[in-house]
Amino acid sequence: MFQNIYSPVQNLKINPFSNLFVKRDDLIDPYISGNKWRKLKYILESTIRQNKNHLVTFGGAYSNHLVATAAAAAKFGFQSTAFVRGEEVKNEMLLLCSLYGMQLIFTDREGYKDKPLLFEKKFGQDNNAYFLDEGGASTEAVKGCAEIVDELRETYDHIFVAAGTGTTAAGLLKAIQNKSLNTQLHVIPVLKGGEFILEEISKYTKISENLNLHTTYHFGGYAKTQPELIAFIKSFTAQTGILIDPVYTAKMFYSILDLQKKGAIKATDKILAIHTGGLLGILGMKDKF
Ligand SMILES: *Cc1c(COP(=O)(O)O)cnc(C)c1O
Repeated sequence: MFQNIYSPVQNLKINPFSNLFVKRDDLIDPYISGNKWRKLKYILESTIRQNKNHLVTFGGAYSNHLVATAAAAAKFGFQSTAFVRGEEVKNEMLLLCSLYGMQLIFTDREGYKDKPLLFEKKFGQDNNAYFLDEGGASTEAVKGCAEIVDELRETYDHIFVAAGTGTTAAGLLKAIQNKSLNTQLHVIPVLKGGEFILEEISKYTKISENLNLHTTYHFGGYAKTQPELIAFIKSFTAQTGILIDPVYTAKMFYSILDLQKKGAIKATDKILAIHTGGLLGILGMKDKF
């Protein structure tokens, strides 16, 4: 049912790097994007195994996870509902969710905090409803993200990934450990105070010396940006032909160039950046460009 995904590894020609590659998870699907598909894959299997057909999930009004869930639900024959944080708004991402048939329930910020309670109140009696946490965080998601490493045909000195919850990073680290690779995993939290990612990762696998957490590339915090990051996106995209978004992947790619400048990694090291997708994030920030 979920075979044949398209995510090639491509060489990136950016000075001064001679061995920089990118895994194009952004090409998996325009809307079931990148790591959100990795996370959803085993969640959908688990939903089917439990004989359920209605995904109930949670997210902000600009959540990549909501669009991915709505699109995947429609594609594979599930119903979908989302509790959306905050007062009712309209935007491009929620429009896509609606087109894919997702029911949107706007929920005030206080009520939104208790997700199990929201689910219980509205869907407690509905045997078809499957509780899917915000961002898709779950052991199924970690298993799906580990497959990114399983697909690699070569080994790398460094793998870079952006982190929101850290679930994707946990899957990558787990796979690196299981295969006893010497690869260093570099995790770039896009939120301020990214140290919490360690705790999140340790729910799924042990913290080992393969893990490098870089907490200084948040550019002010989640969905925050600075002119320097916007300028970086413009020059990166024009140079490489690869779009990156200001919320996640731009911060990650920026860190690679910066860490090389600071001498933490070498321009000749073999480096793989995971393009986790999320390009719709550009729409949420179009005024910044
Ligand atoms: C959601 C998202 C992430 C963060 O993934 P986590 O598993 O929550 O750390 C990274 N990149 C993109 C493009 C995303 O949409």
